[in-house]
Amino acid sequence: MSTASINGCCLTTFSATAQKSLKRLALRPSVFATLESSSSSTSLPRLIRDQPVFAAPSPLITPILREDMAKDSYEEAIAALEKLLSEKEELGPVAAAKIDQITAELQTPDSKTFDPVERIKNGFIKFKRETYETSPALFGELAKGQSPKYMVFACADSRVCPSVVLGFGPGEAFTIRNIANMVPQYDKLKYSGVGAAVEYAVLHLKVEHIVVIGHSACGGIKGLMSIPEDGSTSTDFIEDWVKICLPARNKVKAEHGGATFAEQCTHCEKEAVNVSLGNLLTYPFVRDGLVKKTLALKGGYYDFVKGSFELWGLEFGLSASLSVRDVATILHWKLY
Ligand SMILES: [Zn+2]
Repeated sequence: MSTASINGCCLTTFSATAQKSLKRLALRPSVFATLESSSSSTSLPRLIRDQPVFAAPSPLITPILREDMAKDSYEEAIAALEKLLSEKEELGPVAAAKIDQITAELQTPDSKTFDPVERIKNGFIKFKRETYETSPALFGELAKGQSPKYMVFACADSRVCPSVVLGFGPGEAFTIRNIANMVPQYDKLKYSGVGAAVEYAVLHLKVEHIVVIGHSACGGIKGLMSIPEDGSTSTDFIEDWVKICLPARNKVKAEHGGATFAEQCTHCEKEAVNVSLGNLLTYPFVRDGLVKKTLALKGGYYDFVKGSFELWGLEFGLSASLSVRDVATILHWKLY
């Protein structure tokens, strides 16, 4: 079996022997010439640094999208092992056992073996056939640009993808996913990734709705509720990040102090959404959009244990100085 790394770059530490052979290879321009010509004939992604960093250049292999590729891979593996077996007799028992294992996997259609590359390839084949190729008009439009109506903040939790839960199609929702779906306050020095996304969505894409969606059993919120009272942290990033919604935690502890920890977490999952909605008001272009009524903010909550979804809208009374006078819930529905 052979493996290919993109542009021959691979962030791996090599042994001294390997490094010597790398040096030898690096002195052979013909190897680079081969790499250049093969990469220019394909559209494979290229790293910005178009030179091998640690690894020796290796020829690029153009992936071919064929569903029987897994079978071919197995057969190639068996052929390679059989070759090895014929060359090195002492490996006989080991190679034979491996061949038996691979053959068994090949002959078991519902094998439990998980192949991460196969999973991605098959996922794309399914999307290409069932979605991309059946909607040429949609993808023709999206090729020209995007104009989503929604900006969505959702948790990075693998169970709560908004495109799955709410059925957003390509081009419908400009989506930011992070730990516990939080929006920090406007700050040009910190969390600028979120700031850039909000700025782009509001000023350039001109989204009409920003929806912050919390969810049940959120690990990020559990982490926030678990931070010791003295505020000390033990993680490099996580606790500092979820402290964005400390006001939600404080409110829940004050109002639901007698509740169980699990109940407090559930309250906090929703209160944190409101804190994020409030934080969105610290972005001048969000406030402008609200005043001009070109933009609306909504909170959502997806409970994947009960299978329900809640949505609420908040109306902010903004004074002339754009400070918040009052906040009122103007919409609230829950679907089971
Ligand atoms: Zn979460």
